[in-house]
Amino acid sequence: MLRSTKIVATLGPASTDPAVLERMILAGIDVVRLNFSHGTAEDHIKRANVVREICQKTGRTVAIMADLQGPKIRIGKFKDGKITLAGGDLFTLDAERELGDQDGVGLDYKELPRDVRAGDMLLLDDGRIVFEVLDVHGSVVRCRVIHGGTLSNNKGINRKGGGLSAPALTAKDMEDIRTAAKMKADYLAVSFPKSSADMYMARQLMRAAEGNAFLIAKIERAEAVEPKTLEDIMSASDGIMVARGDLAVEVGDASVPALQKRMIRMARELNKLTITATQMMESMIDSPVPTRAEVSDVANAVLDGTDAVMLSAETASGRYPVEVIEAMDRICVEAEQSQTVALDQEFLNRRFTRVDQSIAMAALFTAYHLKVNAIASLTESGSTALWMSRLNCGVPIYALTSKTATRYRTALFRDTYPLTVKYVGNDSEELLQEAEDVLVQNGVVKDGDLIVITIGEPIGASGGTNTMKIVRVGESRRRKAAG
Ligand code: PGA
Ligand code: MN
Repeated sequence: MLRSTKIVATLGPASTDPAVLERMILAGIDVVRLNFSHGTAEDHIKRANVVREICQKTGRTVAIMADLQGPKIRIGKFKDGKITLAGGDLFTLDAERELGDQDGVGLDYKELPRDVRAGDMLLLDDGRIVFEVLDVHGSVVRCRVIHGGTLSNNKGINRKGGGLSAPALTAKDMEDIRTAAKMKADYLAVSFPKSSADMYMARQLMRAAEGNAFLIAKIERAEAVEPKTLEDIMSASDGIMVARGDLAVEVGDASVPALQKRMIRMARELNKLTITATQMMESMIDSPVPTRAEVSDVANAVLDGTDAVMLSAETASGRYPVEVIEAMDRICVEAEQSQTVALDQEFLNRRFTRVDQSIAMAALFTAYHLKVNAIASLTESGSTALWMSRLNCGVPIYALTSKTATRYRTALFRDTYPLTVKYVGNDSEELLQEAEDVLVQNGVVKDGDLIVITIGEPIGASGGTNTMKIVRVGESRRRKAAG
């Protein structure tokens, strides 16, 4: 059974053993995420190489996504590593302080005193600990503890409502972009962007490093979900991540489900990709089966239309890295089957002006009404497949390409399955014949089936998709044999 929704898995200690990683990939990983918040550049390059080797060996296509750490706003360190705070305690955050104790702690983020005011709520350690700001004097922020708990070295700070103003790309991120380019990462995820300018800057740095990764904006700040800002960020990116971990801390957890739906809908309308992330199968870090709530969460993300669902600690440090992929796979497949396909309705509000986009839409419309077995898109950049995959027509889209980078990139697109064609000449009949043969060899279609094919003619000349063909498998060979 083909799965339309893709699975992104974060790599870490639990997925370092190549034998385990191979089983995870065979269980259904489409994209691996290298989390640059942990480990060295060398570790990540090594992991990327192992993934590529497993792809070679198994014939699977797994894209690589480098995920930048970003400007996590953090406290400093404690003399004893950690302290325990109770509700009502007074506690100071001091930009000039060295080591912390029971009364206060220093700041990695020195600008905090400038950014906060009396009455602000500060959330530490993903919201587990809450402070109210009493007053600010120079470098010192005096707080009252609202929710206490254990606070340890370098925990993150968010302000409720957002507004802490660190630049989105740190010096480390800039270095990591060069590493991502060097390893030919297919995707680059940018953490905490607050405007399209942050994404333009990441794009520029990626280009300067001669990489061509697609950019994913992680939506995890309150500023980024303002409708105008969100649209700007999306327009400057190739896709977004609904980064529910940090987003929930900034906007309140109860706002996240509706935001997830709105973001996925908006992204699809703007022809952008979406990844739904964080705590999707959290209990499977320690348990071999998911909770009912997690099953529903993954299924609902599928029904929202996300391109991919993401695993974090579940596959990076959990006890069941293979089982969690298997569970996610079966939940996605079942949810997809329950989905109604109503393509005509999805078309109602669509406007398109480009020739290649019009062909993509025509191919979808035809495939849906003629009930063909497959859509084949002969594509250089993958953009025709991307357009087609923004709407659900219930027919799988095969992205056929001779370009390795395009093949890997399309692994993230919903409903899209990459395949390689080798032909590089400029005879479109030969290319079409190879496309048909590749689909037959891969068991996608058989003699007599109908396929809708999109292609740019003349081939070899630059320029996009401008032609749609409806082909009955085997017919051109029979015609030739008959003379
Ligand atoms: P992170 O991003 O795991 O890098 O923090 C995802 C999120 O915040 O949900
Ligand atoms: Mn985050």
